[in-house]
Amino acid sequence: MKVFSDQKRQSQHNPSGFLVNGVMQPNPETPERLEKLLSGVAAGGHDLHVPMDHGLGPIAAVHSPVYLKFLSTVHERWKRIPDATPEIFPNIHPDRRTASYPLSAVGQAGFHITDMSCPIGEHTWEAARWSANCAASAAEVVLNGDHVAYALCRPPGHHCFIDLAGGFCYLNNSAIAAQFLRQTHDRVAIIDVDLHHGNGTQGIFFARDDVFTLSIHADPARFYPFFWGHAHEVGEGAGHGYNLNVPLPRGTGTDGFMKGLRDGLAHVRNFAPGAVVIALGLDAYEGDPFGGLTVSTSGFSEIGKELAALGLPTVIVQEGGYLCNELGDNLHAFLSGFADGTP
Ligand SMILES: [Zn+2]
Repeated sequence: MKVFSDQKRQSQHNPSGFLVNGVMQPNPETPERLEKLLSGVAAGGHDLHVPMDHGLGPIAAVHSPVYLKFLSTVHERWKRIPDATPEIFPNIHPDRRTASYPLSAVGQAGFHITDMSCPIGEHTWEAARWSANCAASAAEVVLNGDHVAYALCRPPGHHCFIDLAGGFCYLNNSAIAAQFLRQTHDRVAIIDVDLHHGNGTQGIFFARDDVFTLSIHADPARFYPFFWGHAHEVGEGAGHGYNLNVPLPRGTGTDGFMKGLRDGLAHVRNFAPGAVVIALGLDAYEGDPFGGLTVSTSGFSEIGKELAALGLPTVIVQEGGYLCNELGDNLHAFLSGFADGTP
């Protein structure tokens, strides 16, 4: 299958830290992830392409103008603050974002960044933009007739809302791919198999009935992103009934994950989408440093096969999955589920 990645541009984003239990730790969303994932692509003999530059169009179809202005300009403004650090970490978080929008770079960082895992460095906007270009390019080839394509997005995207970064995510690549597919398909489903709930994706489509969002993840009652991902969140207004969360107990393995996935896919089939986006996190792996679920390497192959069996045009978008020896193997196992390339 065609794979889209721009290793050079995407690697320029190299966040230093994130806050864990009150302690600043090295940020696990490293450029090295890209190398490991590319080794998985190479193992499958897939067809690697540099994405084309789609400009702001596909990104602006999902994110707000004020947020894109912030992301693209804030570092330049931050640099002018005497003694400011090389990366932007917000030191204020408004509890109600309906408050007035500030002019200050510090105030805007608080407005648009929900947690302490999303530092903005000099090259963050550029890397995030090319990560989004991977998603748009994969969606484009699928609209043009490829049955499946893989966007090696990094930084990831599914924790990012319309105007709010969070959880290592700055632009919601899965949402960008889904919106791109809407050019041709009346109904699109996003199936999120990342360890963490896809809260940004849910938020973007929560009031819409044209994009069905399914997420299978570790129960957020005691796990990031805490405030979203519960079973009672089913959508609102026109979107009521078009969002499905399948929270799993911590430590759930391959069998339990597959049961949750199959239950969720029954609802996706009812929705009858014309195309799907897979938000592919590999951090449900038993050896992932986040340690939330215990899916095995062969489990990712099972997940891939189950999703391929939908028989629908599919854009696979990389989300989480952190450094461990098997990261590339897990990607290879998942993509092998789509090996035939035909419905
Ligand atoms: Zn994750």
